Parts: sequence; C-alpha cells; structure tokens
Amino acid sequence: MLPGGNQAGPPGLAGSPVFLTLQMQEKSAKSALETILRGAVPITIRGIQLTSLVDFPGEVCTTIFLGGCNFRCPWCHNADLVLRTATLPEISPGEVLNLLIRRRSWVQAVCITGGEPSLTPGLEEFIRSLKSHGFKVKLDTNGTQPEVIARLLAGDLLDYVAMDVKAPPEKYDLLTGTRANLEAVKESIALIKNSRVAYEFRTTAVPSLLLEEDFLAIGQMLAGARHYVLQQFRPARTLLNPGLQELLLYPETTLKNIAVKLQPFFARVEVRS
Ligand code: SF4
Repeated sequence: MLPGGNQAGPPGLAGSPVFLTLQMQEKSAKSALETILRGAVPITIRGIQLTSLVDFPGEVCTTIFLGGCNFRCPWCHNADLVLRTATLPEISPGEVLNLLIRRRSWVQAVCITGGEPSLTPGLEEFIRSLKSHGFKVKLDTNGTQPEVIARLLAGDLLDYVAMDVKAPPEKYDLLTGTRANLEAVKESIALIKNSRVAYEFRTTAVPSLLLEEDFLAIGQMLAGARHYVLQQFRPARTLLNPGLQELLLYPETTLKNIAVKLQPFFARVEVRS
C-alpha cells in the first residue's frame, strides 16, 4: 500500500514511470512480507531485544540474536547462543518482522548479532525483507565468512558493519579457542575497508590476554581503516570461560593511552566503556 493507504495512487500519476516504480516497490515489499510470514525464509532467530540505544551507532534499534558460532572466545558473553543454541526458544522471522513493522514509528533500525550471524542460512533473504520495509541494518560479525559479507555489501543490504578483530595474527587461535582462518578474516577486513558502508573494527580489551603491544600489532593489521573501537571487557556470569569473571579491568586511562598510540593507524579511534 502506498503511503496514506492510497492504492490507486495520486490522480494524474497512474501510468507514469514514477508510479509504476512505486507499484513495483510496493509489490516486492508485499511479496517479501508474504514469503517471510509463510515461513519460507529459512532463518531461526534465537533472541530479540526490542529497543537498544547502544547497538547501532546513531540509531535506536531492535537487536536480533542468531545462534551458533565458529569461534570460542573465552570472554564471550553469549555462551548459550554459542554452545547451547538448541536449548533457546525459536522465534519465527515472520513474528519478528510483524513486530518490527508495528513498532516502525519508534524504531527504524535493526542490529543483527549472534553468535556469528554470517553462518546462519537465510540471512541474506531476511535482510532483504528488512530493507524492503525501509529498515536500516547493521551486521555484527567475526569476519570468518568473507563471501557472505561480499554478497551483502554488493547487494547494498547493509548500512553499518561492526567486525570484531580479536587479536594480532599470531594470537588469533589462542584468543578464539579455535584454528582460526586468518586468511578469511583478512579478506573480510579488506572488503569492509574498501566498501562505502559505515563500519567499525573493534577489539575487546581483555586484560592479561591482550597487552599493549598486541593492540599496536592490530593497528598495523588494520592500518588505513576509518574507525577503530577499543572496547572495555565486561565480566559477567554468562561468559564462555567463567574464570575470566575475576579479571581486573584495564583502567580507562590505560585504554585512552593505548588509543593515543593507535591514532596514526586510523582516521578515528574510540574507547568504549
Ligand atoms: S565473542 Fe562473538 S565470535 Fe567470539 S564466541 Fe562469542 S559470538 Fe562467537
């Protein structure tokens, strides 16, 4: 339906190229909604936070959580999403889209996070349905699936990408608890850096696992990027490795000092508490 519910379109516009384009857009948005409500988009959502002021820079957003991950970062907050996905309730994409549409006057942006969303089948179709309804989309990713990132960027389906860069190359396996595919990570970094989309690369400053020289090595790895975020580690009971709850945080002044040393590598360095 056109804005204002006028299905016939404004007088004098019917048959014009503008009106035909509007009709086509309306049709494709409708069919995306119908498809998703029929459950034809094969995506399983494992959690939703209706309103977030912090997950999408500059936007009030709804955050959607997808399950499963190919990393095992010991400081990960979402142990259930990563290790016990099947125990979490399934939320249908149709329900979520319906909810988003009903709340659209308050929230026009969606952050898709995980787990690692790029591993979830149906992600692209789901994002297409969000975009066809006018939502801005941010993707959080660990960068291990560059082919997915490339497709989403090429399709103009993302408004913001936040990629976690976990460690300098020689520590990636240690910090992710896996044999990390570093080539894939580097490919994603290059794709995002060379894209026109708004982005950030970010590293969680986990005390004792990452030292000052590690952040400088990450700076070299990402040199020339527009935006880098040094993110404070947050101890919680839901950590993948609960032993890390006892770690003493880096003082904010230490992170700020490291940020100053990282400035030559980036257009903008941010410390996020
Ligand atoms: S922090 Fe992110 S990449 Fe690491 S295990 Fe958790 S969800 Fe996966």
